[in-house]
Amino acid sequence: MQKQLQSIIQGQATSDGAGVKIKRSLGQSQRVRFDPFLMLDEFGSASATDYIAGFPSHPHRGFETVTYMLEGHMLHEDHMGNKGHLKNGDVQWMTTARGIIHSEMPQQEEGVMRGFQLWLNLPAAEKMKPAAYKDIPSSEIPVANLSNGGCIKVIANTAIIDGKKVSGPIQGLTTDPIYWDVHLPLNAAFSHAIPTTHNTFIYVYEGEVAIGDAPLKEKASAEQRKLTAGNAGLLGAGDEINVVALAQDTRFILVAGIPLNEPIAQYGPFVMNTQEEIEQAIQDYRNGVLTD
Ligand code: MN
Repeated sequence: MQKQLQSIIQGQATSDGAGVKIKRSLGQSQRVRFDPFLMLDEFGSASATDYIAGFPSHPHRGFETVTYMLEGHMLHEDHMGNKGHLKNGDVQWMTTARGIIHSEMPQQEEGVMRGFQLWLNLPAAEKMKPAAYKDIPSSEIPVANLSNGGCIKVIANTAIIDGKKVSGPIQGLTTDPIYWDVHLPLNAAFSHAIPTTHNTFIYVYEGEVAIGDAPLKEKASAEQRKLTAGNAGLLGAGDEINVVALAQDTRFILVAGIPLNEPIAQYGPFVMNTQEEIEQAIQDYRNGVLTD
């Protein structure tokens, strides 16, 4: 059964860090989440004043942050002494778990900076495990060409393209995340099986798409299927996705994961299960023991 477009979260312009301009879809309020995903930001600007102040030192606890840099250069530094340069096409997968204190600062004074930050929740049993961090250069992320002229970049999980397995560098997490970047020419389609256990969404960042299998020639159903750039489309039940590009050079990320179905307590960069755990995180940060 094809998954259909169930609801749309319109990206909202906002700012974070020291004033970096972003477009936030998931996570724009604490009611707008899609278990196990907490937040999705698209940062993108050709104007340095929109990003130059970056994200100075700040803490996290209880989840994972995934930064996918489409274009630009950012330097990550954390309390463990890690230093990572994030450039065009690179991914940083950070398991903040019990605590991380880091900064994310632009290393460019002009030109385009563009990318995504996704927050993926951790199950209660893993929220207090030691922090971990993985820099994945673009060269280690497989890209498969599609026979229709498009391509797919597999960051997490495994795609089957023309009968061949294309496995991304991130595998085997509890929520079994899928994170694919798909590019399609006009009218090309991308179809793939998705496990029924997963919550699935699509975020279009170039062009527009039609999702599902209602006939496109009927105007009403065509409108119901349409997702335009800057918006996240949450998909309903089913075991397969079908996405058709309605514009030339359409690009979207497809993200899916097994929901945790656990209570969430959030205070800014701390995401736990109870208010007591949030108060503990705040206290630990104040006392300088967040990461101990
Ligand atoms: Mn951060």
